[in-house]
Amino acid sequence: MAEKSGKQSEAGTKRCSRCHEYKSLDEFYSNRAQPDGYDNQCKKCRQHYRENNREHIRALQRQRYAENAEYRQRKRQYLKKWRTAHRDEMIVYLRQWQEDNKDKVLAWRQEHKEETREKNRNYHNTHKEAIQARKRANHRKYPHKTRVGTRHYRARKAAARGSFTEDEFQALCQHYEHRCLSCGKETGRLEADHVIPLVKGGDDFIDNIQPLCKSCNCRKGTQIIDYRVPKNNDGQQKKEAKNAKE
Ligand SMILES: [Zn+2]
Ligand SMILES: [Zn+2]
Repeated sequence: MAEKSGKQSEAGTKRCSRCHEYKSLDEFYSNRAQPDGYDNQCKKCRQHYRENNREHIRALQRQRYAENAEYRQRKRQYLKKWRTAHRDEMIVYLRQWQEDNKDKVLAWRQEHKEETREKNRNYHNTHKEAIQARKRANHRKYPHKTRVGTRHYRARKAAARGSFTEDEFQALCQHYEHRCLSCGKETGRLEADHVIPLVKGGDDFIDNIQPLCKSCNCRKGTQIIDYRVPKNNDGQQKKEAKNAKE
């Protein structure tokens, strides 16, 4: 705020309309509605007034919000910006608050049960296409992880030749030192990936299985990639052993 044209501001001061004292400009809040850009009352008087009229001010703000579309939009934009800028803090804060106020959260949920259900129903009805699109995208990205995907996957697994056992898979994980064969990450939660996916006619025997971490498995999807290749000798031996048995 460089130029001030207010009549009351002389040599960088202004007279407060409430306490009538002359004060320097930085003791006034800025106010776009005033010709000189500063509030008519000094900060101290404003604060004093605010403290003593909290409920009244809140009511006025609420009324203004309800009646003034321009103000509403400005407020919403401001809030949106603020939320985006403070997103991480907000999440932490909200989580903590919910943790500390479990009874309140529960009571609120109980009290707004019908409302929430109604809201969800409305959302589903008005966003059908968006929801469908999201589901399809998700299904494309993680074929096994969606409900439809899981069902299809189970059906294919049931229809496929063979079926490896949990023991076989655990032995395989141990053989590869519990590392994902794609990224090499060591994890106790490896997934059994079909080298040749069931959907592409692969079978469900253990020699069509390689341990992958969740994200590598997702990324591989239904491609045919054999991450065991570098350990080819070993794999070959195993395959031969299996063939000999059959
Ligand atoms: Zn004052
Ligand atoms: Zn991985």
